[in-house]
Amino acid sequence: MTDCEMSIMLASVFRKLEKEGFLKKPINSPIRIGVSNRHVHLDRNAMDMLFGTDSALTRRNNLGQPGQYASEETLTLRGPKGEIKRVRVLGPLRAKCQVEITVSDGYRLGVEAPVRDSGDLEGTPGLELIGPKGSLTLEKGVIVAGRHVHMTPLDAAIYGVKDRDLVSVEIAGPRGALLRNVLIRVSDTAGLEMHIDVEEANALGVKNGMPGEIVIG
Ligand SMILES: [Zn+2]
Repeated sequence: MTDCEMSIMLASVFRKLEKEGFLKKPINSPIRIGVSNRHVHLDRNAMDMLFGTDSALTRRNNLGQPGQYASEETLTLRGPKGEIKRVRVLGPLRAKCQVEITVSDGYRLGVEAPVRDSGDLEGTPGLELIGPKGSLTLEKGVIVAGRHVHMTPLDAAIYGVKDRDLVSVEIAGPRGALLRNVLIRVSDTAGLEMHIDVEEANALGVKNGMPGEIVIG
Protein backbone atom coordinates (compact mmCIF):
# COMPACT_ATOMS: atom_id res chain seq x y z
CA MET A 1 0.00 0.00 0.00
CA THR A 2 1.41 3.43 -0.93
CA ASP A 3 1.44 6.38 1.49
CA CYS A 4 -1.26 7.99 -0.62
CA GLU A 5 -3.53 4.93 -0.50
CA MET A 6 -2.88 4.62 3.20
CA SER A 7 -3.86 8.23 3.87
CA ILE A 8 -7.03 7.87 1.78
CA MET A 9 -7.96 4.75 3.73
CA LEU A 10 -7.25 6.37 7.08
CA ALA A 11 -9.16 9.47 6.00
CA SER A 12 -12.22 7.35 5.29
CA VAL A 13 -11.89 5.79 8.76
CA PHE A 14 -11.70 9.25 10.32
CA ARG A 15 -14.70 10.41 8.27
CA LYS A 16 -16.65 7.42 9.55
CA LEU A 17 -15.64 8.20 13.12
CA GLU A 18 -16.64 11.81 12.53
CA LYS A 19 -20.01 10.75 11.11
CA GLU A 20 -20.62 8.56 14.13
CA GLY A 21 -19.95 11.55 16.35
CA PHE A 22 -16.61 10.43 17.73
CA LEU A 23 -14.71 13.38 16.27
CA LYS A 24 -17.10 16.20 17.14
CA LYS A 25 -14.28 18.15 18.68
CA PRO A 26 -11.39 18.45 16.26
CA ILE A 27 -7.98 17.43 17.48
CA ASN A 28 -6.18 20.64 18.34
CA SER A 29 -2.66 20.20 17.18
CA PRO A 30 -0.75 23.29 16.09
CA ILE A 31 -0.01 23.98 12.45
CA ARG A 32 3.28 25.36 11.20
CA ILE A 33 2.99 28.84 9.70
CA GLY A 34 4.90 29.61 6.51
CA VAL A 35 5.39 33.31 5.78
CA SER A 36 5.32 34.30 2.10
CA ASN A 37 7.12 37.33 0.76
CA ARG A 38 6.15 38.90 -2.56
CA HIS A 39 6.71 36.50 -5.45
CA VAL A 40 5.80 35.65 -9.02
CA HIS A 41 4.49 32.47 -10.70
CA LEU A 42 5.13 32.32 -14.46
CA ASP A 43 3.68 30.33 -17.34
CA ARG A 44 5.87 28.89 -20.13
CA ASN A 45 5.24 31.80 -22.48
CA ALA A 46 6.18 34.44 -19.88
CA MET A 47 9.31 32.46 -18.96
CA ASP A 48 10.36 32.49 -22.64
CA MET A 49 9.77 36.23 -22.94
CA LEU A 50 11.47 37.24 -19.68
CA PHE A 51 14.37 34.77 -19.40
CA GLY A 52 14.79 33.52 -22.99
CA THR A 53 13.24 30.81 -25.14
CA ASP A 54 13.29 27.39 -23.47
CA SER A 55 14.98 28.84 -20.37
CA ALA A 56 14.47 26.95 -17.12
CA LEU A 57 14.16 27.98 -13.48
CA THR A 58 17.10 27.15 -11.22
CA ARG A 59 16.10 25.64 -7.88
CA ARG A 60 17.39 27.75 -4.98
CA ASN A 61 15.57 26.19 -2.02
CA ASN A 62 12.54 24.00 -1.48
CA LEU A 63 9.35 25.40 0.01
CA GLY A 64 6.96 23.81 2.50
CA GLN A 65 4.72 22.34 -0.21
CA PRO A 66 6.21 19.24 -1.90
CA GLY A 67 7.65 20.04 -5.34
CA GLN A 68 7.43 23.82 -4.87
CA TYR A 69 10.65 25.84 -4.76
CA ALA A 70 12.09 29.33 -4.76
CA SER A 71 14.25 29.82 -7.85
CA GLU A 72 17.43 31.83 -8.38
CA GLU A 73 15.54 33.92 -10.96
CA THR A 74 14.16 37.33 -10.03
CA LEU A 75 12.17 39.99 -11.85
CA THR A 76 11.33 43.66 -11.55
CA LEU A 77 7.67 44.58 -11.03
CA ARG A 78 6.71 47.92 -12.56
CA GLY A 79 3.42 49.65 -11.82
CA PRO A 80 2.09 53.14 -12.56
CA LYS A 81 3.69 54.57 -9.40
CA GLY A 82 6.92 52.67 -8.98
CA GLU A 83 9.05 49.57 -9.25
CA ILE A 84 10.07 46.73 -6.99
CA LYS A 85 13.25 44.93 -8.00
CA ARG A 86 14.54 41.42 -7.25
CA VAL A 87 11.14 39.78 -6.82
CA ARG A 88 11.62 36.03 -6.69
CA VAL A 89 10.07 33.62 -9.17
CA LEU A 90 8.68 30.44 -7.60
CA GLY A 91 8.73 27.13 -9.42
CA PRO A 92 7.63 25.03 -11.10
CA LEU A 93 6.01 26.94 -13.98
CA ARG A 94 2.22 27.15 -13.86
CA ALA A 95 -0.66 27.33 -16.33
CA LYS A 96 -1.19 31.03 -15.55
CA CYS A 97 0.99 33.94 -14.40
CA GLN A 98 0.25 35.22 -10.92
CA VAL A 99 1.94 37.98 -8.93
CA GLU A 100 1.48 37.90 -5.15
CA ILE A 101 2.26 41.16 -3.35
CA THR A 102 1.49 42.78 -0.01
CA VAL A 103 -0.90 45.70 0.44
CA SER A 104 2.13 48.00 1.01
CA ASP A 105 3.69 46.78 -2.25
CA GLY A 106 0.45 47.74 -3.97
CA TYR A 107 0.79 51.34 -2.68
CA ARG A 108 4.40 51.45 -3.87
CA LEU A 109 3.51 50.13 -7.33
CA GLY A 110 0.24 52.03 -7.68
CA VAL A 111 -1.95 48.95 -8.13
CA GLU A 112 -4.91 48.03 -5.96
CA ALA A 113 -4.61 44.26 -5.66
CA PRO A 114 -7.56 42.50 -4.04
CA VAL A 115 -7.26 39.74 -1.43
CA ARG A 116 -7.86 36.57 -3.47
CA ASP A 117 -7.29 32.86 -3.36
CA SER A 118 -4.56 31.57 -5.63
CA GLY A 119 -5.85 31.13 -9.20
CA ASP A 120 -8.90 33.38 -8.75
CA LEU A 121 -7.66 36.13 -11.04
CA GLU A 122 -10.79 37.49 -12.80
CA GLY A 123 -10.99 41.27 -12.43
CA THR A 124 -7.56 41.63 -10.82
CA PRO A 125 -5.11 44.32 -11.99
CA GLY A 126 -2.05 43.70 -14.14
CA LEU A 127 1.56 44.88 -13.99
CA GLU A 128 4.67 45.10 -16.13
CA LEU A 129 7.22 42.33 -15.50
CA ILE A 130 10.82 43.04 -16.46
CA GLY A 131 13.33 40.20 -16.81
CA PRO A 132 16.91 39.96 -18.10
CA LYS A 133 15.83 39.03 -21.65
CA GLY A 134 12.65 41.07 -22.07
CA SER A 135 9.52 42.42 -20.53
CA LEU A 136 5.78 41.86 -20.74
CA THR A 137 2.61 43.45 -19.45
CA LEU A 138 0.16 41.22 -17.63
CA GLU A 139 -3.47 42.16 -18.17
CA LYS A 140 -4.40 40.61 -14.82
CA GLY A 141 -2.99 38.35 -12.13
CA VAL A 142 -1.84 40.67 -9.33
CA ILE A 143 -3.29 39.63 -5.96
CA VAL A 144 -2.75 39.84 -2.24
CA ALA A 145 -2.96 36.13 -1.38
CA GLY A 146 -5.73 35.21 1.03
CA ARG A 147 -4.51 33.30 4.08
CA HIS A 148 -4.97 29.56 3.83
CA VAL A 149 -4.00 26.17 5.23
CA HIS A 150 -2.70 23.33 3.01
CA MET A 151 -3.52 19.82 4.14
CA THR A 152 -4.10 16.25 2.91
CA PRO A 153 -7.49 14.48 3.09
CA LEU A 154 -6.18 12.67 6.15
CA ASP A 155 -5.30 15.94 7.93
CA ALA A 156 -8.74 17.28 6.95
CA ALA A 157 -10.44 14.26 8.51
CA ILE A 158 -8.37 14.65 11.68
CA TYR A 159 -9.15 18.36 12.00
CA GLY A 160 -12.80 17.82 11.10
CA VAL A 161 -12.73 20.19 8.11
CA LYS A 162 -13.14 19.86 4.33
CA ASP A 163 -11.73 21.53 1.23
CA ARG A 164 -12.81 25.21 0.85
CA ASP A 165 -14.01 25.49 4.48
CA LEU A 166 -13.22 28.77 6.20
CA VAL A 167 -11.82 28.35 9.70
CA SER A 168 -10.31 30.61 12.35
CA VAL A 169 -6.72 30.27 13.49
CA GLU A 170 -5.51 31.37 16.91
CA ILE A 171 -2.08 33.01 17.05
CA ALA A 172 -0.35 33.27 20.43
CA GLY A 173 2.16 35.87 21.61
CA PRO A 174 2.16 39.58 22.54
CA ARG A 175 0.50 40.55 19.23
CA GLY A 176 -1.62 37.39 19.18
CA ALA A 177 -4.97 37.37 17.41
CA LEU A 178 -7.76 35.21 16.11
CA LEU A 179 -7.54 35.15 12.31
CA ARG A 180 -10.89 34.58 10.63
CA ASN A 181 -11.60 33.52 7.03
CA VAL A 182 -8.68 31.13 6.71
CA LEU A 183 -9.33 28.93 3.67
CA ILE A 184 -8.76 25.18 3.93
CA ARG A 185 -7.10 23.79 0.77
CA VAL A 186 -7.06 20.01 0.62
CA SER A 187 -4.89 18.07 -1.83
CA ASP A 188 -3.22 14.66 -1.80
CA THR A 189 0.23 16.20 -2.14
CA ALA A 190 -0.07 18.99 0.44
CA GLY A 191 2.29 19.56 3.34
CA LEU A 192 0.42 20.61 6.49
CA GLU A 193 1.15 24.33 6.61
CA MET A 194 -0.63 27.66 6.97
CA HIS A 195 0.39 30.46 4.59
CA ILE A 196 0.17 34.14 5.44
CA ASP A 197 2.02 37.03 3.84
CA VAL A 198 4.91 38.87 5.41
CA GLU A 199 2.78 41.92 6.21
CA GLU A 200 0.23 39.88 8.15
CA ALA A 201 3.08 38.02 9.86
CA ASN A 202 4.72 41.27 10.99
CA ALA A 203 1.41 42.60 12.29
CA LEU A 204 0.99 39.43 14.38
CA GLY A 205 4.61 39.04 15.49
CA VAL A 206 4.78 35.73 13.61
CA LYS A 207 8.04 34.39 12.21
CA ASN A 208 8.38 31.58 9.67
CA GLY A 209 7.85 28.20 11.34
CA MET A 210 5.86 29.44 14.34
CA PRO A 211 2.65 27.58 15.21
CA GLY A 212 -0.99 28.51 14.86
CA GLU A 213 -4.00 26.56 16.07
CA ILE A 214 -7.20 25.90 14.13
CA VAL A 215 -10.33 26.94 16.00
CA ILE A 216 -13.57 25.84 14.37
CA GLY A 217 -16.61 28.09 14.36
ZN1 LIG B 1 -0.04 28.29 0.04
